[in-house]
Order: sequence, then C-alpha cells, then structure tokens
Amino acid sequence: MTSKVTLEDIIERVVIDKNDCWNWQGAKIKGYGSIRVNMKHFYVHRLTWILTNGEISDGLYACHKCDNPACCNPRHIFLGTQRENMIDSSKKGRHWKANRKFCDKGHEFNEENTYLFRGNKQCKVCNNIASRKYRKTEKYIKSRDDRKIKNK
Ligand SMILES: [Zn+2]
Ligand SMILES: [Zn+2]
Repeated sequence: MTSKVTLEDIIERVVIDKNDCWNWQGAKIKGYGSIRVNMKHFYVHRLTWILTNGEISDGLYACHKCDNPACCNPRHIFLGTQRENMIDSSKKGRHWKANRKFCDKGHEFNEENTYLFRGNKQCKVCNNIASRKYRKTEKYIKSRDDRKIKNK
C-alpha cells in the first residue's frame, strides 16, 4: 500500500531545522504532516517510520520524541500503545515489551540480539536494517541540499 512512496519523495518536501526535525511542508491534519497515497491519507511521520523500520503492529501509534507534530524524522519517532497518555503507556508498554520473546519481525530476543533502549528490548537485526536505510537517507539529504545551494 505504501510502495509508491519512498523516503526520498518525502524528503523532497521537508525542511530540516537545527533540531534535526524534518518539518513537513505539505498538507497537515491537526498539525501532523499528511500525505495521500493511492487516494488514502497517511500520516507522514508514520510512513517514514514504516519506510525505515517496517510495518507497525496493530494498536501501536507512531509518537514524537521531539514534540513537533509536523516532524517526520524516523529517528524522532517511537511506537507507543496510546497517543493520549504517552507517559502512562510508556510504563505499561515497557512491561508488555519486557516479556516478549520475539521482535515484531520474529527475530528472537536472545542475549546477542537484544539491547535495551529506555527500558525496552530492542532487536539488533531490525535496528541494523533501519540504520542502513537511515544512513542512505542522510546521504540523499546531503546531495539534495548541495543541489539547492548550486541552484541559488
Ligand atoms: Zn523531530
Ligand atoms: Zn527483529
């Protein structure tokens, strides 16, 4: 469903500020960046997270670490169980995740493959994939900005 949009397409429409926030310049819904793909609306920050990390499980929301709803930098997004009471749910989510044996993609949470981030188990395999994609994107941002400077 999201196959028609790439991170590069999205980056063409963001302005990156000093906090490294990717500020979406297109349409917004309640302050959140919104994009239409195949006639459907998607939140841009959710989309960038999916494009970097993979599909989001049912019932999980893409939340902002940076409190900037227009931001769609996947590094500033984390998954929470409920947008409304983030602080509360991060405690519950921690508990729920602490007991999991496998990550969302089915990799086992064994000693070698697990590290903790803010009290949550993280999968190294998934994180490496996400980091690679993110580095590729960073390169793209640099070349985009170089291009802009040349055109001025
Ligand atoms: Zn941000
Ligand atoms: Zn994994």
